[in-house]
Amino acid sequence: MAELPEIFKISRQMDRELAGKKIFGLTLLQEKNLNILPQDFISRCVGASIAKVSYKGKWFKMDLDNHLSILVSLGMGGDILFYEDLNIKEKYQIKMDFTDGSSFSIKFWWFGRFLLFTQKELAEDSSISDLGVDPFNEEFTYEYFRGLFAGKNTQIKNFLMDQKNISGIGNMYMHDILFSARLHPKKKISDMKEDDFKLLYQSILSILRFSQSKGGSFYEKDFYGNPGDYGSEDFLVGYKENTLCPRCSIVIEKIKTGSTAAYICPNCQKI
Ligand SMILES: [Zn+2]
Repeated sequence: MAELPEIFKISRQMDRELAGKKIFGLTLLQEKNLNILPQDFISRCVGASIAKVSYKGKWFKMDLDNHLSILVSLGMGGDILFYEDLNIKEKYQIKMDFTDGSSFSIKFWWFGRFLLFTQKELAEDSSISDLGVDPFNEEFTYEYFRGLFAGKNTQIKNFLMDQKNISGIGNMYMHDILFSARLHPKKKISDMKEDDFKLLYQSILSILRFSQSKGGSFYEKDFYGNPGDYGSEDFLVGYKENTLCPRCSIVIEKIKTGSTAAYICPNCQKI
């Protein structure tokens, strides 16, 4: 499942490749991915041009030159792929063709969203407007980050997974972020010291930036179908149960944290 390093990279590639292109055709094969009827979606998009592609949290945001925006969520995962021509061999649920003969397709692995909004609707839709600032945003300073925890007393992993607090982090990078910060996933925010917050802030940035520097996860394709270089050898404790902690050589454990799993060193990460 794509997280911030992958979303950031793909959105940049989409912007570079698609900005200025005029939409010639749109194929929408699954109505359940959409927020309006397929024929309405198509008639409002065909003939418009892509003005800009950016991201918000784990969403891609495609602004059209007719003041509409398309929001794309890959959900539990998916491929969003660019083609120099219109003849796509891979399976897809969504395909957009451009007047210059290029196209892109989306294949959701499970269930994804492909939504068309006016700017007013976009501002009012809570799944988008309530998203927190992501760690690659310049607003994500230590002061801003520290302020998010005021009055909060949940477990730290639950807090970080909630996209309304900080957007873009999911379970894949969470294991190493918490390990680097020496925090147990179930540690309560009220039990954290000032140094814990500082180390956590640095860990979030260093883990995500390191993946970004390697082109994102090996398990995700970019807009051109290429995987990133951040693979299993780069994880510190994530997905490494029954191997030894790189810091203290105690055996790494897999534990349950709500509906997700967590990989921890029981010695380095105490509650
Ligand atoms: Zn350890």
